[in-house]
Amino acid sequence: MILINPPVFKPCEPPGGIARLAGSLRRHGVSCEVMDASLEGILTLLGKTPTLSDTWTSRAFRHLPDHLRRLTRPQGYEGPDKYRRAVSDINRVIEKSLPPGEIRLSLTDYSDSALSPLRSRDLLTAAERPERNPFYGYFSGRLRRTLEESGHGVVGFSLNYLNQALCAFAMIGFLKKESPPLKIVLGGGLVTSWMNKPGWNNPFAGLVDEMVAGPGEAALISFLGEEYTRGEDLPDYDGFLRNPYLAPGFILPYSASSGCYWHRCSFCPEKAEANPYRPIAPRRAVKEVNRLVEKSDPVLLHFLDNAMSPALLTEIARHGLGLPWYGFARITSHLTDPDFCDALKKSGCVMLKLGLESGDQDVLDHLQKGIELEEASRVLKNLKKAGIGTYVYLLFGTPPETPEAAGRTLDFTKSHGAQIDFLNLAIFNMPVSGPDSERLERSAFYEGDLSLYASFIHPSGWDRSSVRAFVEREFKKDPVIASILRKNPPLFTSNHAPFFVGS
Ligand code: SF4
Repeated sequence: MILINPPVFKPCEPPGGIARLAGSLRRHGVSCEVMDASLEGILTLLGKTPTLSDTWTSRAFRHLPDHLRRLTRPQGYEGPDKYRRAVSDINRVIEKSLPPGEIRLSLTDYSDSALSPLRSRDLLTAAERPERNPFYGYFSGRLRRTLEESGHGVVGFSLNYLNQALCAFAMIGFLKKESPPLKIVLGGGLVTSWMNKPGWNNPFAGLVDEMVAGPGEAALISFLGEEYTRGEDLPDYDGFLRNPYLAPGFILPYSASSGCYWHRCSFCPEKAEANPYRPIAPRRAVKEVNRLVEKSDPVLLHFLDNAMSPALLTEIARHGLGLPWYGFARITSHLTDPDFCDALKKSGCVMLKLGLESGDQDVLDHLQKGIELEEASRVLKNLKKAGIGTYVYLLFGTPPETPEAAGRTLDFTKSHGAQIDFLNLAIFNMPVSGPDSERLERSAFYEGDLSLYASFIHPSGWDRSSVRAFVEREFKKDPVIASILRKNPPLFTSNHAPFFVGS
């Protein structure tokens, strides 16, 4: 079978989920080919002369080979200014690869003012009219050739982000027209969320032959007519190793778990969807990482876990990994121990992503984050002292938050400006099936049958536009915060941030 990562997915590292599926399929003796159609599609469009020839676009197109070379070498990450220019020029060329119209494209985003990925009817339209998709020129030839040469009869799409949905359906529509007997399988994080929605009723029957929720190995293998046997499936990156990702070497993605061991935060889709926590034993995870590192010689290891468990962090701190790594961790008492932070640093930890969400204790308690601000403060200081970068995630406009509480988040962030390297700011979306959705009054706004979020009336009247105004006009304008935000790598954000820790 063929496993496809559809556009648009950040073109800096391979898709971890497909590599895990490929490993499992090969262990079961199933022949499989992987295709990073997002990277290939983006590179194809970058090779086209832009549709506009204004000064910026012409200059960016002229320097494109230099910029692409810069982003694939370690030296390209030595100075933030040249890096920023390379990213924004490459992005300019991709944006202007399309004539002005309904579809807008960037290196990391895809939107269509006529079709919404939140409506199943629009996805079916994307499938009916694949030639409308800007990647059509690329994928029509590529898929046709691959099918002819390989003779595969099943194609699987891994759909993890909304940015990918319209392109995935355009590719599916093309394949079904090209070869009606071909079987199509659809899985990935976004598909899992759709299928976990209350009242889910598959609108894609007839186009998609099998939809898979959660880790797809067993379902896929039985769909292919094989018997799934439990075993240690090592992700297989062979088909991705030679791809020219926009990174200074191979970035190895690895998941030591699916779901989340904490599973309590009231705003979190993991809780709302009741996704089970499935960890790989820490000892085995470290062994797998070591085997993968030997095979792929990466410059960086990216843990994909929603939250790396304290047991995994302890195992890594104990044995080391021998290469730089980063991932999401919760703010826990383990990190209040300076020796533990030093051991993590020695193990290769270059950056931790931390979901702090708020600098107000009442808000944290209501959200059931399990975080004490006094502890968070110590953790940030310890990590800084150990030389581990921090990417702090904040969430505004949650139901318990008031403007005063948001002000306290501003104060906390400012007072820890010296310990925070990068910041991610988001505005709360209410999961359609989370605990808040039963409690709070809904507003009438309807986005589409596939929307995972519901609009709601904020209990304190702290509505979305006021929250956005606070974030834009107060929070981001603070000089300490503005200087942290300026350090965030444009577009690639946390995926490239580890290369800039300490610079
Ligand atoms: S720690 Fe993160 S992934 Fe886990 S429940 Fe909270 S927000 Fe969700």
